[in-house]
Amino acid sequence: MDPVLQDLLDFLEASPTPMHAVASATARLTGAGFRALSETDSWEGLEAGRYLVSIGGTSLVALVVPSKKHDGFRIVGAHTDSPNLRLKPRPDYTKEGYAQVGVEVYGGALLNSWLDRDLSLAGRATVLVDGATETRLVRIRRPIARVAQLAIHLDRDVNDKLALNRQEHLAPLLGLASEAAPVSVAALVAAELGVDAAAVVGHELMLYDTLGPAVGGAGAELLFSARLDNLAMCHAGVTAIAEAARAGSTDGDFAQVVALFDHEEIGSESVYGAHSAFLPRVLERVSLGRGLSREGHLRALARSACVSADMAHAVHPNYPDRHEPRHKPRLNEGPVVKVNSQQRYATSASTAAMFAALCKSADVPVQHYAHRTDLPCGSTIGPIASTLLGIPTVDVGNPMLSMHSAREMAGTLDPALMTRVLGRFFAA
Ligand code: ZN
Repeated sequence: MDPVLQDLLDFLEASPTPMHAVASATARLTGAGFRALSETDSWEGLEAGRYLVSIGGTSLVALVVPSKKHDGFRIVGAHTDSPNLRLKPRPDYTKEGYAQVGVEVYGGALLNSWLDRDLSLAGRATVLVDGATETRLVRIRRPIARVAQLAIHLDRDVNDKLALNRQEHLAPLLGLASEAAPVSVAALVAAELGVDAAAVVGHELMLYDTLGPAVGGAGAELLFSARLDNLAMCHAGVTAIAEAARAGSTDGDFAQVVALFDHEEIGSESVYGAHSAFLPRVLERVSLGRGLSREGHLRALARSACVSADMAHAVHPNYPDRHEPRHKPRLNEGPVVKVNSQQRYATSASTAAMFAALCKSADVPVQHYAHRTDLPCGSTIGPIASTLLGIPTVDVGNPMLSMHSAREMAGTLDPALMTRVLGRFFAA
């Protein structure tokens, strides 16, 4: 199997939550010589090298600082979060003899896709150890939860009109209620972490499908997995910057940056989102740390470019009329450049041309996407980051179907193609 595809499968499997995605990315980057830089330390006299800056455990910036003072930044942005069901802070309750947990819908999830799946819990917990709190990643691997669908005999219209009330119909069952041994999320987490239930003082947990990613299709041309939007693009960015750093091709005029943000699916407005001060602050501190003046930093920004990488809609054969007739990307035919005149995508003619030239030089085909004019278009981190930083940006992504489903699909050739183009961007 293509090594990029194999590594993507491993990345998807290891990353059921944004916290795990940041841990997976950190492991890969650490292996490529990147080391952690803390925002609370002084960055004065910052040396050339490879750095990682994490915020909140769900957003991450990887940096390659060149030996000479940088002329600008080459930035690849992506997001670590995906729509899903998340547990409420006091989740446990019983009803009609079942143990259940209360959930909230995170982002624009396709709710029906969460029904009748073998689900489990992952995220992080705050635990009390020797009087001090620490945060630990949690992942229960057994399928312990299920959002059970109502039988068709009790809802004869369901195939024409499935209505799911978010409060009433999505609560997963965690087993049968028992007075002798009541089900408790804190106890499950404690058992997983090997601590007392009383030591679990807080948690941020979400449901995930225990079925792992798989290569499918008659000719092994399809990729079936949860969270392709947007872990596939996080993986492409991380792989490209790690490979560029290893090859030494990043020791040029530009600082190389991969920024992975949380909270894209809910609008990016948070301390960890693309709309925060996180990335502008990191970039400015890199410039100041390298001895650039504020004037020098602003000039560097003016010479910078950004690729916002987020998955794109491939044409769906059962719904071709939902697509703009002359902009129908296909799986395994390369990265997609996204354009929208309402600036739901940040692409301009010149940034599209820049990306097309990178594809050409990497011998990779390029496709084009525009939304149907009579449908509201989704957005991504590109317009937000470019507005905040004032950096010309191109919005791109690999083509996929079933976006925001609990189990999405894409092509097996596209991951390596996008990774190659992002590698060219860093080397340019
Ligand atoms: Zn996305």
